[in-house]
Amino acid sequence: MTSVATPRVHELTDSFGRTVRDLRISVTDRCNFRCVYCMPEEGMKWVPRDEILTFEEIERVARLFVEHLGVNSIRLTGGEPTVRADLPTLVRMLADLRTPDGRPVDLALTTNGAKLTRMAPRLKDAGLQRINVSLDSLKPERFAAMTRRDELTSVLAGIQAAVEAGLDPVKVNVVAVRGWNEDEIVDFATFGRQAGVQPRFIEFMPLDADGGWTMDKVVPADEIVAAINAVYPLEEVAHGPEPASRWRYRDGTGEIGVIPSVTKPFCGDCDRVRITAEGSFQTCLFAQDDYDFRTPMREGATDAELADLAARAVGVKWAGHRIGKIDFVRPRRSMSQIGG
Ligand code: SAM
Repeated sequence: MTSVATPRVHELTDSFGRTVRDLRISVTDRCNFRCVYCMPEEGMKWVPRDEILTFEEIERVARLFVEHLGVNSIRLTGGEPTVRADLPTLVRMLADLRTPDGRPVDLALTTNGAKLTRMAPRLKDAGLQRINVSLDSLKPERFAAMTRRDELTSVLAGIQAAVEAGLDPVKVNVVAVRGWNEDEIVDFATFGRQAGVQPRFIEFMPLDADGGWTMDKVVPADEIVAAINAVYPLEEVAHGPEPASRWRYRDGTGEIGVIPSVTKPFCGDCDRVRITAEGSFQTCLFAQDDYDFRTPMREGATDAELADLAARAVGVKWAGHRIGKIDFVRPRRSMSQIGG
């Protein structure tokens, strides 16, 4: 990859021909839930506050990627993004960004939904377009066991608030874990059809801080589609580079997505990169390398220098993760520390 002299428009294409379009920004590593497949119950070490990127630093990175490096889609995540003070202010700053051809960036948020009843209208007003709310059980006791928080009622109210605020689509992320919630797959489909939201079933990945992931806890995407299809007939929808394979109900009542990260990795189509809350640039959830953006930014690096750093990282992006292979190495950071 050639060095970036001036950051005009210089798309980031890796050695496998994949071009970066989607930037995931973690706004905090902190979270008000402790989901079993993500964080430990206690003992998480938080990034010190002065090491977390400020809104201005996040906006600078986002602007560079949108205006000069070919990104047209941004998702805010965490940790739990809604625990970061004044999140709508950041949303407004990012909603103002325009791609070189003058289009607004496709701006989305992933949240556990517990604070959405109050925040959904403010986020929408600030320019957020769509939202993913994580929800792994519709049964109060199981929800409390999976998240280690008794907040099902507030999450359900948050989903309703997101729909009422006009965020569209509202997707519901369900991490399917064998022995925990695979018996609720059809219930989630029913819930989605009734609530006007799209369930997206995510295969459990080895990114849990407790290190409890095993292959036999993964519920394969094919099994999920088959279970739903048996009750609500489905047909596949052609889709772009996004990881979810999409299925719509033949009766026209909406759709579901499945993210087969483990059983059918979509790394060959990967168009995303990530910035962690402390400003580390990552080209893959499972990347082993850190490309620190924060230090150069705080030491006065120019946009061209930051673009060059991004180009170097993308230039050595690997073909894909090695989950289930003998040479798989878990990344140093767990999901909440990277930004899912
Ligand atoms: N706190 C927010 C939330 O709950 O959606 C955003 C951050 S969370 C890390 C982002 C997404 O990652 C959620 O949908 C969560 O369910 C998913 N996730 C976390 N750990 C995972 C794992 N080990 N495997 C698959 N998905 C995971």
